[in-house]
Amino acid sequence: MRNPHAGEPFATSDEDIAAALEDVSIPTLLLSLVHMSQNPDLIRGRLRPAGLFLNEVQGYMTEEDKAEARALALEVIRDYRDRGCPEPEPVSAELLHEMMSWLVCEKVPDEYVPMLMEEMELDGSDARRVGVQADPAAREAFPVVVIGCGQSGLLAGIRLKEAGIPFTIVEKNPGVGGTWWENSYPGARVDVGNHFYCYSFEPSDAWTEFFAQQPELQAYFEAVMHKHDIGPHVRWETEVLGAQWDEADGTWSVRVRAKDGAESSLRARAVISAVGQLNRPHIPEIPGQETFSGPAFHSAAWDHAVDIAGRRVAMIGAGASGFQIAPTIAPEVAHLTVFQRTAQWMFPNPNYHAAVGPGVRWALRHLPFYGRWYRFLIFWPSCDKGLEGARVDPDYPDQQRAVSARNELTRQMFTDWITSQIDNDPELLAKVIPDYPATGKRTLQDNGSWLRTLTRDNVDLIRTEIDHIEPEGIVTVDGERHPADVIVYATGFFASRVLWPMDITGRDGVELRSLWGERPAAYLGITVPGFPNFFCMYGPGTNLAHGGSLIFHSECQMRYITQCLETLIAGGHHAMEPRKERYDDWHERTQREIKTLVWSQPSVKHSFFKNAYGEIHVLSPWRLVDYWEWTKKPDLGDFVVR
Ligand code: NAP
Repeated sequence: MRNPHAGEPFATSDEDIAAALEDVSIPTLLLSLVHMSQNPDLIRGRLRPAGLFLNEVQGYMTEEDKAEARALALEVIRDYRDRGCPEPEPVSAELLHEMMSWLVCEKVPDEYVPMLMEEMELDGSDARRVGVQADPAAREAFPVVVIGCGQSGLLAGIRLKEAGIPFTIVEKNPGVGGTWWENSYPGARVDVGNHFYCYSFEPSDAWTEFFAQQPELQAYFEAVMHKHDIGPHVRWETEVLGAQWDEADGTWSVRVRAKDGAESSLRARAVISAVGQLNRPHIPEIPGQETFSGPAFHSAAWDHAVDIAGRRVAMIGAGASGFQIAPTIAPEVAHLTVFQRTAQWMFPNPNYHAAVGPGVRWALRHLPFYGRWYRFLIFWPSCDKGLEGARVDPDYPDQQRAVSARNELTRQMFTDWITSQIDNDPELLAKVIPDYPATGKRTLQDNGSWLRTLTRDNVDLIRTEIDHIEPEGIVTVDGERHPADVIVYATGFFASRVLWPMDITGRDGVELRSLWGERPAAYLGITVPGFPNFFCMYGPGTNLAHGGSLIFHSECQMRYITQCLETLIAGGHHAMEPRKERYDDWHERTQREIKTLVWSQPSVKHSFFKNAYGEIHVLSPWRLVDYWEWTKKPDLGDFVVR
């Protein structure tokens, strides 16, 4: 069978090939040429990228060099086409490493190469798929319940199906996607490049934007669900209320409530929670909010029945969601008042709203491994570099401003980006430059649309605290009244209350909620002592603020979980749970590590990463390469297996 990443054979005309090459990433193209021609000298000459920056996919090559590369590419591609587009011979491991380093203008350290090779699947094999060991009858007797059908729950379903393990996914919504189902607010889009933000084994050449909007993302997950025929395993519009472990027969009883209110139970030998961390909307309590006379709703529960055109909208909160909503709705509303408690740092990304040209889609579909190298090109700059940038130098003098010399440079880059857009408006500038270190909260992707929005005549940015809400609008503590017809709460989620509000009761009647309180923890973010055969995806300590993508993390977690299930089934075991000392050690080390990073700094006053005590239990402080290594294969010495 042809390697799925070798591209579909084509008979495209010279003219159309030349037109397609106008759109593509030239450094990525040059690597595809090496596969087509088997000639590494193509990348050993003068033509090469000059530098690396996240989402800058042309490697700062000059227009002349790009034109020369296109002319060369036309020759190589024409020859490849005329030879009938044969599947390229595999390239040696040494050359692949050379190609990686060439593309990102630095030597990719040896320790990263195995992870990247797996992520790129250049050999066409899906290495994260777990090989089946136990016999079919043993699998049949091991039903699993997955809670949630977002990106991680769908992945769980795909992997369980591949392993022949029976499963039911319980999903409270009527469709797949989780976050990408619920967050349909105007302007919702992903801020990790889509050619990386998709399953490693299910790339798509159909994205119409580099950072797709919600409908396209939801459609992607739907298409993947259909392709793997996961739909029949899902109970839609059914909410999990809780789950209780029965030690005697080694099963979980999962209590569910259907749309009609009827409650019932599902029995499972194992439970996989795939509910995400950003799922339960948070609306702050503001005096008088119940008296407001117009519609009011949360960004994650956007009321599309409300026509906001020509109306006065007040948006409370402007983090990642508000940052996308305001530029989208400002042109159609009569007036938009943005109430922002904390200014946000933003990362320059001129292509944030850019469309994917037809030439890129052609290249993704036809040019050998173009999509794989493009994936790597987006992944690498966000792979662990952000973590080093987040590290605190305790000797750095002004910790309120920056946590290290490197962090100061980031601050200056971000400040320059903001200032370059509004240097003629000192009043606005003073309101939008954050007063805490760069990257201290989740950094937003920006193409200039946010500040353009704030300079519109019909938009006001209010940084003064809200005092109360009245029937006709919002009143700030300085006594000023801000009239509004509609209130949008873009105020985030209960991120620290992981798995809330479900009641999960483990061995000896221990309740997960009381065990965790505001300090959720799980070994590797996946398992908890006292909760046998219970596994978390996107669990405590696995959210990512320093790069990568949650899909990458989910794939690591699900490989680990599937192997745990295989161990249980093949060994005929009753249950497994992590040893308490391993869990305690993990939690202690994770807490120690997170305190060395910018997100924990007291100078960051408000952040959903922090719990009520100012501690962080939801984020991973670890390098992706380490997490990948640790989750590659469960160490049974970490578990009590009964
Ligand atoms: P968020 O980033 O937590 O922002 C919430 C906003 O509400 C902040 O401006 C916050 O102010 C404000 N707020 C919260 N409580 C408040 C209170 N009591 N009084 C005044 N203001 C209050 O939430 P989000 O925007 O929904 O985003 C959450 C996460 O979802 C993101 O970090 C990201 O992980 C994900 N997300 C991703 C994308 C994407 O991929 N493009 C888009 C949207 C969301 P403070 O800053 O002062 O706390």
